[in-house]
Amino acid sequence: MKYDVKSERADEFISDAEIRETMAYAEAHKSDRPLIVSILKKARECRGVSHREAAVLLASDQPDLTEEMFALAREIKQKFYGNRIVMFAPLYLSNYCVNGCVYCPYHAKNKTIRRRKLTQEEIRQEVIALQDMGHKRLALETGEDPVRNPIEYVLESIRTIYSIKHKNGAIRRVNVNIAATTVENYRRLKEAGIGTYILFQETYNRKNYEALHPTGPKSDYAYHTEAMDRAMTGGIDDVGIGVLFGLDTYRYDFVGLLMHAEHLEARFGVGPHTISVPRLCPADDIDTADFENCVPDEVFHKIVAVLRIAVPYTGMIVSTRESPASRAKVLELGVSQLSGGSRTSVGGYVHEEAADENSAQFDVSDRRSLDEVVAWLLDLGYIPSFCTACYREGRTGDRFMSLVKKGQIANCCLPNALLTLKEYLQDYASPATRQKGEAMIARLLETVPGEKVRENARRYLEAIGEGRRDFRF
Ligand code: SAM
Repeated sequence: MKYDVKSERADEFISDAEIRETMAYAEAHKSDRPLIVSILKKARECRGVSHREAAVLLASDQPDLTEEMFALAREIKQKFYGNRIVMFAPLYLSNYCVNGCVYCPYHAKNKTIRRRKLTQEEIRQEVIALQDMGHKRLALETGEDPVRNPIEYVLESIRTIYSIKHKNGAIRRVNVNIAATTVENYRRLKEAGIGTYILFQETYNRKNYEALHPTGPKSDYAYHTEAMDRAMTGGIDDVGIGVLFGLDTYRYDFVGLLMHAEHLEARFGVGPHTISVPRLCPADDIDTADFENCVPDEVFHKIVAVLRIAVPYTGMIVSTRESPASRAKVLELGVSQLSGGSRTSVGGYVHEEAADENSAQFDVSDRRSLDEVVAWLLDLGYIPSFCTACYREGRTGDRFMSLVKKGQIANCCLPNALLTLKEYLQDYASPATRQKGEAMIARLLETVPGEKVRENARRYLEAIGEGRRDFRF
């Protein structure tokens, strides 16, 4: 199939032939120092590199140039994201699923997993528990089951979540990770006020995709791969893509991921808002030893670094699938959003799951509480941010991207991060975390660019100390 970045057809914008040629080109040039040096020179301009150039960087076998790549990824991260790390938590609504995904414990034939679907009252309790931890931003997750989890259920759940205001708590941005759906349903999700629509491709390799998804609606490769086009047609302008590393070769999916980003940019004028980098984990009924493409840590770190270089404006997300040590490494190299205190079982924030319940989607590798994660980030010199300002001010899609590209977003990001951190410290932090956070705020307030913004930020911080909430730039 011929490659056409602007095509509406999955097999043309994710052309298998183009991916294979790119992989062969990268392999042929992995020791080509002048070429790698020239790609790095272009990358230093911070406007990204193409999927082919990124594939060469990923394949490079020159240790000193790999070190340069890592250093450049750190620089780009610093330039666009500073030390800010946006915090979120997943909320699992239902694990009923009609699909047959062979790597996912939700698959329809799994009889050992306990199936659960939250009622609106149970969602209320989960959200109160999440608000009491300090979360302001959620990612909703469900299995795919048109009868048990129809779009109406998801929409009603979003309304419930936004309506709950417990003490000083509020969920201010609900991102949604549900199965591929129709333009009409995406329009309804947009109207319900979602932030990002997230959908992982799992793998871009059609043949392997079909083997990994033998039954159920998700088995339709083209329908799944074209989902973001439908989402954008339905008016959702912040979309989040990702692959599940470990299903196919990382080389294939890395190229596919960047071609997908280039396609969205070419067709809609705005690339993905975020890229997630989940790695396959053990789970009920799932043994990672059955998968031959699991990605080792060193390669995973290089993937994150090269993605940072290739798409400097795109947020990168890492979940609790990764251990604290692995998270520390990828935070340095490019990740800008992190989940904390996550429970991947349905109802897990209110009831700690019993050992025989098995309702979780994957085994969590980072089991620390949100407060522990926040304190750890502060110790590492990061600013944990609970900011949702851009989305609430209508700075989404191409409006957001053009501000990022001009470097203007950073002017409001730092004060917004400090304001939301202050709220967290006042309402939810342990005394030790509060002390670290206050020291960080005092130090960084002085670095807020612009005298007027700095002065307003100082006033807002004082007001938060006196009990007022929800200031933003
Ligand atoms: N059901 C939705 C769909 O079909 O896209 C998405 C929700 S699912 C709860 C979220 C993601 O978890 C999946 O897209 C998949 O990439 C990931 N996942 C599934 N099984 C996993 C495993 N064993 N380890 C790590 N991640 C897994």
